[in-house]
Amino acid sequence: MIIFDLTCSADHRFEGWFRSAEDFGEQEASGMVNCPFCGSHEVRRLPSAVHLASAAADPQPASDVQSPMAADPLALAKAFVEDMIRHSEDVGTAFAEEARRIHYHESPERAIRGVASADECSALQEEGISVLRLPRPKKPEDLN
Ligand SMILES: [Zn+2]
Repeated sequence: MIIFDLTCSADHRFEGWFRSAEDFGEQEASGMVNCPFCGSHEVRRLPSAVHLASAAADPQPASDVQSPMAADPLALAKAFVEDMIRHSEDVGTAFAEEARRIHYHESPERAIRGVASADECSALQEEGISVLRLPRPKKPEDLN
């Protein structure tokens, strides 16, 4: 599952949960996404409010990042993730701190990516900060 911050034509802001970026695109195109406040179908994504966190060295992979419904959620979200990585700033291990600063308007609003533990991600989500957890990326030497 991925979470998008969305806004409608009346500037209401809300979160939408989707299987993938493509899933959002399809639902938006067919008018299935609407604002919970006013019902407007003129909904668009606020990509800068979604933050990426690569899995840190957790003892065990967090089971809640897996979606049992999607056959291959990683493949489905691949294009979205690659786009986000290209357009986000790598803040490394300062991820949780920086995501919080952005949320509380202490840092400029932008997309960031970095490393965070499962506990850090949970804490951020409890504070209402959208975090998309990714599996740890392959190291360059693994690709050779
Ligand atoms: Zn609205």
